Amino acid sequence: MKSAVERERRGLVVALDGPASSGKSSVGATAAARLGYRFCDTGLLYRAVTWLALHRGVALDDAAGLVALVDEVHLLDDGTGRLARVAVDEIDRTPEARGPEVDAAVSAVSRLPEVRAALLERQRRLVEGGRIVMAGRDIGTVVLPDADLKIYLDASAEERARRRVLERGLDPEGPEAAEILEELHRRDRLDSTRPVAPLKAASDAVVLHTDGNTLDQTVALVVETIQAAEAAPPATEAAPPPAAEASPSESSPSARRRFRQRRPIEPTPVATRITPYIWFGGLVLRTIARLVVRLRIEGDLAAIPASGPLIVAANHASSADPVLIGAFLNKRLGRPLNWLGKREIIDMPILGRLFRWAGIHPVDREAADLEAFRAAMRVLDAGQVLAVFPEGTRSRDGALQPVREGVGMLAVRSGAPVLPVAVVDSDLAWPRGHLLPRLRRTITMRVGEPFTVSGEAEQGGAPAPKRGRRGTTAAATRVVMTRIAELLPPRQRGVYAAEVGGPSS
Ligand code: C5P
Repeated sequence: MKSAVERERRGLVVALDGPASSGKSSVGATAAARLGYRFCDTGLLYRAVTWLALHRGVALDDAAGLVALVDEVHLLDDGTGRLARVAVDEIDRTPEARGPEVDAAVSAVSRLPEVRAALLERQRRLVEGGRIVMAGRDIGTVVLPDADLKIYLDASAEERARRRVLERGLDPEGPEAAEILEELHRRDRLDSTRPVAPLKAASDAVVLHTDGNTLDQTVALVVETIQAAEAAPPATEAAPPPAAEASPSESSPSARRRFRQRRPIEPTPVATRITPYIWFGGLVLRTIARLVVRLRIEGDLAAIPASGPLIVAANHASSADPVLIGAFLNKRLGRPLNWLGKREIIDMPILGRLFRWAGIHPVDREAADLEAFRAAMRVLDAGQVLAVFPEGTRSRDGALQPVREGVGMLAVRSGAPVLPVAVVDSDLAWPRGHLLPRLRRTITMRVGEPFTVSGEAEQGGAPAPKRGRRGTTAAATRVVMTRIAELLPPRQRGVYAAEVGGPSS
């Protein structure tokens, strides 16, 4: 455990995230220099890969082609430990990488998981030795979830656009200023809605709102926050952090309380066979379920593939859903389902172990997208069954909610068949907010026909995938959700109602 003195001497690893033009690079570099820290601007890596792709004519959705470019890109140290310039094949390309062409294209490149994965270890290696401020979009959430201190610099889009306009000496009322604002909105949207490693503040980040601040004021705020963290006791001595927000005025004392270190969590081994524990647990849950609700199971269970990877995708309207799907499908499939679960439940002393034995894989919520994707692919690569709720959380009204593209991406990347499952009326039997289920209500678990997203597209059964990977995963997600919606009654089809032809029961 690092003592406060040692932390002050050795310095911290600081993650500095924030949206485009929030000042991360200028503020981060200046604050780092003042504290004798190194500085690294990770956005330059994504920018340089994008510039090189445009330069070489590599398509922006050609993941393999883009990954092949990554090794040609290197950050340049200016001799003081500041990595704020980028070279491609030994030539400094910082101006090109910061140009408007790259501005417009970089989010398309940075949204690809393969590119992110290819850059991940490089970024992590850069912090070896500590005493560094690393700036980016996902540093606190994905790249350095164990950073000693996480800072999220925020400012309204209008404020950020205003700063850019001033920097470039443009007319604040002119058309270029309006374009800059529009472009910022567009990049914010792309960076924060991408399925993998979206821009967001880590839950243990100190959020600094900088509207109305001068550059100097924000630098002072960041320096002060880092110094407060250096002087603070290590995580285990500190009180656990409450939810994120910290106003600038309370940043220093709160920084002392808020940050903590996250230790890595062991992955769960992929569940490949029905162990006595899973068998017995399933028996108990099925018995309880039969006593509490009337359960109907419909669909051609014999058509479900008995081996090979399989994605079971279901709607999520009640806490009953995972219990019913797990307890009844495990038995019918003859092999166990693997699930993704919050690391907090796996971290629990005894229950956590029982959850692991039941095939639940821990996912850190702060790094959820990339980690969840990896954990899910581990299961599918092992040729096993993965159960997912594409909606992520339980629906408030029992009807399907909009989903991100995770399930489509998994289906496309793995090529695994998808088994759509609808749990009908579970929200009425065990509504959100109720401690216990209502007795003897009917729940129907309707199992659809397994399909592959590529097969659907070939047969014309899917909406035609748009060109490019993004279009493909979005279309695949829509197909999966439509297949689930078709199995649900109209009341529960929610946002996918329009995709379903005629009403079904
Ligand atoms: O920070 P900057 O605006 O230079 O970053 C350029 C782009 O690179 C961002 O809009 C984002 O799409 C991507 N990026 C990222 N993850 C990072 C840093 C940058 O996705 N850690």
